[in-house]
Amino acid sequence: RAKEMGNNNYQFYTAAMNERALERLRIEGDLRNALERKELLLYYQPQVDLRTGRVVGMEALIRWKHPQLGMISPTRFINLAEETGLIVQIGAWVMHTACEQNKAWQRMGLGYLRMSVNLSTRQFFQQNLVQSVAQVLEETGLAPHYLEIELTESLVMTDVELAVGILNDLKSIGVQLSIDDFGTGYSSLAYLKSFPIDALKIDQSFVRDITVDQDDAAIVASIISLAHNLRLQVIAEGVETQEQLSYLQRHRCDEMQGFYFSEPIAASAIEDLLRAGKVLP
Ligand code: C2E
Ligand code: MG
Ligand code: MG
Ligand code: MG
Repeated sequence: RAKEMGNNNYQFYTAAMNERALERLRIEGDLRNALERKELLLYYQPQVDLRTGRVVGMEALIRWKHPQLGMISPTRFINLAEETGLIVQIGAWVMHTACEQNKAWQRMGLGYLRMSVNLSTRQFFQQNLVQSVAQVLEETGLAPHYLEIELTESLVMTDVELAVGILNDLKSIGVQLSIDDFGTGYSSLAYLKSFPIDALKIDQSFVRDITVDQDDAAIVASIISLAHNLRLQVIAEGVETQEQLSYLQRHRCDEMQGFYFSEPIAASAIEDLLRAGKVLP
């Protein structure tokens, strides 16, 4: 098969690979300066209570407005930031900006919402994480329970004992904790029991086909029950249709997040949405 494709294809793949390597190098170089050049920004995606239809939280999602390449998605640069260690600085900026923004919305009378911030592995295991989070809360004046930290199963599983210690320390300063992309990692139920977490976020890959695939429907219903039996809140990610929404409501999922209600949007657009009192249709 490979032989059939011949030499041209080989060259094609090599060229494509070189291009990718070059892009990576370029992005890496540019990422080093992105913070100080103020090219990074946060978008926010509303999280909606499925019983009341009201916005109860937001997830902060980073974007990079590259001067030549345009808007770059975090899927293209977060791993790189993680590998190069730049994530520590970038993550600190995200944490500060998200908390400051949430406090500003509270001051503007736009409501008391929870702000979720994603942490990556290196950031989570950095020496002074808990102190730095506490410091951001103090600097911004945001009450701790309005901050939620999202972690993935694989992050926690990197070093379970150490992770549980850090999670307990984070709980002791009053922040909320959730497991992101739940169901896609390798955490065992035995560990889940010992994590001092508040919520599970069902990964969008399970939500996508709940109305057409019986297995996905069963998995989502089971995660909702599991969460509730462990006294955890549960939030579905990637909800795009009315049918998915109804399924989640029938199964008593607590919250949803997804394009059906809103894509991640800029802070000013969030303000418009909150002022308009947008609720789930
Ligand atoms: P995540 O934390 O699981 O975030 C949810 C992703 O799903 C976001 O992608 C969001 O735009 C997308 N999404 C939301 N609703 C829908 C929907 O209805 N349909 C579909 N198809 N997608 C939807 P985004 O913004 O590209 O972020 C990708 C990932 O990058 C995040 O996944 C998170 O793991 C990471 N990330 C984003 N911001 C940060 C950050 O500030 N720090 C760190 N460490 N990671 C971040
Ligand atoms: Mg997340
Ligand atoms: Mg997720
Ligand atoms: Mg993810």
